[in-house]
Amino acid sequence: MTTDERLREEQTIKAAATNPRQQTGVLVERVVRTFGERTVLDHLDLVIDDEELVVLLGPSGCGKSTLLRLLAGLDRPDGGRIEVPAKRAIVFQGDRLLPWQRVLRNVTLGLHGPDADQKARKALADVHLAGRERAWPKQLSGGEAQRVALARALVAEPELILLDEPFAALDAITRVRMHDLVRELRRTHHASMLLVTHDVDEAIALADRVVVMSNGRIGNAHPVQLSAADRAASVAREELRMALLADLGLANPH
Ligand code: ADP
Ligand code: MG
Repeated sequence: MTTDERLREEQTIKAAATNPRQQTGVLVERVVRTFGERTVLDHLDLVIDDEELVVLLGPSGCGKSTLLRLLAGLDRPDGGRIEVPAKRAIVFQGDRLLPWQRVLRNVTLGLHGPDADQKARKALADVHLAGRERAWPKQLSGGEAQRVALARALVAEPELILLDEPFAALDAITRVRMHDLVRELRRTHHASMLLVTHDVDEAIALADRVVVMSNGRIGNAHPVQLSAADRAASVAREELRMALLADLGLANPH
């Protein structure tokens, strides 16, 4: 994707007129999206509660990004109903930072008003990047760049944050640190979140509820009511992991 396309896409998010909603939650009803002959989303239903973090798990190509783009307002459904909050932000796998802008400007991008810089500094501090405001994107590690992308998403205090495999390109240790950061941000920023991943461990680490996509719909849903310690290691964790792998058709038959 060229930078122009990327910018246009981000501007469309702000302009798109998906049905606005008062609450921060999400309602998706019987949504259909087809590309040519292929029905990618086939009467899909999904509800996300206020401030709930739902992880959408599914194999590559099953339609996860297609659903996220609809919720972001970057694309339109061919049928069904979508209700989302007015203030939304999306974080992609790649950080999509503008290389010719310093970190602070990358965060204020699209913000207006005299306090834009102050808000951006606060968002950068929230992702533990205070002091890096004047760095160029190319001077950042992959994890830092993705934290800038998170700050950019948080800075406008969105009611819904959509994350499309946000940590998939990071190494395992950095990914675990990002999971800690997401948990921390949830205590200070009150938004619903839909995080897309194909990583079962990431789903268990973060979700209030894991939903598994199959055949263009949401199949099984698994509420995750485990303590932080039990999410890291417990019998319940292993049972959930096996159930999720089975839903993905990857279970080991013994
Ligand atoms: P996932 O994010 O789960 O890997 P996607 O939502 O990106 O999957 O894609 C689901 C399917 O829809 C794929 O087969 C993909 O090729 C197809 N698809 C997605 N967007 C388009 C598009 N704009 N035009 C045609 N086909 C598309
Ligand atoms: Mg995708």
